[in-house]
Amino acid sequence: MHHFHYIKNELYCEEVPVEEIVRTVGTPVYLYSCATLKRHFRAFDSAFDGMKHLTCFSMKSNSNLAILKLFASEGGGVDIVSGGELYRALKAGVEPAKIVFSGVGKQVEALEYALESDILMFNVESPQEILKLDEVAKRTGKKARIAVRVNPDVDPKTHPYISTGLKENKFGIDINDAPKQYTLAAGLKNIDVTGVSCHIGSQLTQSSPFVDALSKMKGLIRILEETGIRIRYLDLGGGLGITYDSEEPPHPNEYAGAIKKELGSADLTLILEPGRVITGNAGILVTRVIYTKTTREKAFFIVDAAMNDLIRPSLYNSYHAVEPVRKSGRGTVTADMVGPICESGDFLAKEREMDAFEPGDLAAIMSAGAYGFTMSSNYNSRPRACEVMVNKDRFYTIRARETFEDLIKGEMIPEFLNV
Ligand SMILES: *Cc1c(COP(=O)(O)O)cnc(C)c1O
Repeated sequence: MHHFHYIKNELYCEEVPVEEIVRTVGTPVYLYSCATLKRHFRAFDSAFDGMKHLTCFSMKSNSNLAILKLFASEGGGVDIVSGGELYRALKAGVEPAKIVFSGVGKQVEALEYALESDILMFNVESPQEILKLDEVAKRTGKKARIAVRVNPDVDPKTHPYISTGLKENKFGIDINDAPKQYTLAAGLKNIDVTGVSCHIGSQLTQSSPFVDALSKMKGLIRILEETGIRIRYLDLGGGLGITYDSEEPPHPNEYAGAIKKELGSADLTLILEPGRVITGNAGILVTRVIYTKTTREKAFFIVDAAMNDLIRPSLYNSYHAVEPVRKSGRGTVTADMVGPICESGDFLAKEREMDAFEPGDLAAIMSAGAYGFTMSSNYNSRPRACEVMVNKDRFYTIRARETFEDLIKGEMIPEFLNV
């Protein structure tokens, strides 16, 4: 459920007509519904009521400060994957004790920064990282709380680019090798072993792979406890899917119920790292049709948003529904919606039946709240879109549209070229 809806053929975000927002801020623009963000966060978090748990929003899906602030005020933590994300999280007021740090290639500076900030836990992904973290912790005079991210080798049945828990993936440590790494870590002075973690993939539409992973993690915890290593946190990662088209992912209650059942009475604090399921359907990308063009083969709608704004269709061949901001009543046509970028891979929708748009019309690219703006770039020297949050009958710019000056920030022409 989300708060993008039609009143008399006109698309609204909560109580504000999308067209009214565009009149003020222009296009392309990412629009987020505050009510939807809140509702999704609460639905997810409350599904785990009765279990000790911490919801750490995976901020790589959407890292705007206003959105982080909203979840922080709801009691949420974050899952970070870089020093830059830690900086954002702290700026937004997320409590360090609710931050977990994932990623295969954490740089020394980021490890230092996170130790100084006293975050909850590092999800370490290799023997070298464990040793590096011990060394950095010693130097900074801190103790590093860790979980080993294990690869449980379960098939999440999702797109290969977003599956992360198979043996051939770069993530985590093979679950069979994990006890050895735990023994190594437990012997290090500046490391405090506190958890186990996994993250098996993204856009999962069934609960069973999560349950399979959890079952394997329980086995690991048992082995560790036999060797005297006490585990307090069980981090199950993120990955719960959403409806882009006709997918029917489990409701958070169903997902949490399946986890609760498998977990039994284990005395552990669960950590969840949802990203897409919270923000995906809470945001849309609004774009304006510049030209329409019909070749002998095809019809194209050429719009002012492009793969630099939303790369998911180009990168994963992802489906995003395309809706008219004002239903024209002109009927539908089958067409490609493409951007102005000089790449054939620059499309937002392919061979899709959609409203018979005309130049000047506005289109909404739905389900764009996760991995939308955060994956955007300046390719073709296109300033990045602005971001707007709607709260009931008001809207707020939460990131200004970039300017041409922003595009060249930090660039310098060396003296020798100025002769
Ligand atoms: C990307 C990622 C997530 C979030 O995944 P979603 O599919 O957006 O829920 C959580 N944890 C880790 C370690 C990740 O890399």
